[in-house]
Amino acid sequence: MRNRFLPALALFASVFTIASAHSLFAQQSAEKPKPEDTEIWKPEPPVVTPGAKWGDPPSDAIVLFNGKNEDAWVSAQDHTPAQWIVHNGILTVNKKTGNIETKQKFKNYQLHLEFRIPADITGTSQARGNSGVFLASTGPGDDGYELQVLDNYNNKTYVNGMVGSLYKQAIPLANAARKPGEWETYDVIWTAPTFNSDGSLKSPAYATVFFNGVLVENHFQLQGQTLYIGKPFYKAYDRAPIKLQAHGDKSKPISFRNIWVRELP
Ligand code: MG
Repeated sequence: MRNRFLPALALFASVFTIASAHSLFAQQSAEKPKPEDTEIWKPEPPVVTPGAKWGDPPSDAIVLFNGKNEDAWVSAQDHTPAQWIVHNGILTVNKKTGNIETKQKFKNYQLHLEFRIPADITGTSQARGNSGVFLASTGPGDDGYELQVLDNYNNKTYVNGMVGSLYKQAIPLANAARKPGEWETYDVIWTAPTFNSDGSLKSPAYATVFFNGVLVENHFQLQGQTLYIGKPFYKAYDRAPIKLQAHGDKSKPISFRNIWVRELP
């Protein structure tokens, strides 16, 4: 009688052992992380063809000045066609007609531009090659958000107002100025501030700036508009033009070339 059950018992025991082992193995293999667990394949980033050389606009750039005309720009004062001087592929400040700004409005973006302080620049402190790139020109009566342009190759001024500064808010991490007469580059990442429906600040603006390839502002959080006088504050806006400054000082006007922007999410 006993013997009749023994083979069945043995079979049951072996099946149970195999099943347990298999289940343990399955459990272990399920818990063991695999490289594939953390791979993301979709959606793929858009294809962008880079410029032929450093500084050239990539395929998805909006070209704001390519040396031919200033069609992308208007007078910041009255929105009539811009009247700076276009000559030999270069855009030069016209102090008589004032600041110019882009027709197009932007939110977050990557910006490239080049500027040149005249070789025979004169003046001191803020009155020496002063211009500026307003990363958001928020309308008449506002100061906006200015990335300073100035000759500080051999010219002292307050450091939160020197070239590479976010005017009176962010001292540049380095003075990477080239000699007057040489072309200089700005590459900027601008994260626009956002606002709640009641106009209160939702998230602040940030700026990262490379000056002649040197990092001078590293994801700097702005406290508001870059004011000439007083404590910065935010004022709600949605999209804004980029503005170039015709500063009122007596030194020779500065020039720009190769200006392009890429909109960012
Ligand atoms: Mg300025």
